[in-house]
Amino acid sequence: MGFLAWPLESNRIRRDVTNNTFGTVRTNADGTKRDHQGWDLVATKLTACYAIADGVIEKLSTGSQGHGKYLLLKFSFQGRTLFAQYSHLSLTNVSEGTRVTQGEVIAYTGTSGNASGMTGEDQHLHFEIRTNPKGGQGLGGRVDPATLYGRAPRGVAILESHGQKLLLSGSTGLKMNAADMRRW
Ligand SMILES: [Zn+2]
Repeated sequence: MGFLAWPLESNRIRRDVTNNTFGTVRTNADGTKRDHQGWDLVATKLTACYAIADGVIEKLSTGSQGHGKYLLLKFSFQGRTLFAQYSHLSLTNVSEGTRVTQGEVIAYTGTSGNASGMTGEDQHLHFEIRTNPKGGQGLGGRVDPATLYGRAPRGVAILESHGQKLLLSGSTGLKMNAADMRRW
């Protein structure tokens, strides 16, 4: 598959701050840094989440801690097998083993797990790209989504309509540029 769809229609890093991007970007009380294993994308509860690529649902988890309700989508990209994790969900319409098509709605965001109680701008989809389904300690077993998408949508919202995701599904090299919408 030649390109990845974005996981939401409007994709923007929560509060536009670095510590909601990927990497060793969060600060402990003593000033030391800790890892954030993916992107936090702003999403009001019950925002639709789309399959970023054709693939298979590897795992559905209904935990109440940490990532809360989450799913893993197994897919191939640029010769690698990868796993997209969508965390803090509320609802899903797929099961483990379900084959999905790029651009298909697979879940709705929520505030499950350690996003419990979040409101307004803090409601988000935690989105990771893993190289193995179990991930690993710290940043292990993960890649920066920006290496696949070209950039983190921090300070901009990258918009990609549902129709656009479906229309271009399966094509290679024909993806329309997503719009960068800056606030004014
Ligand atoms: Zn997060």
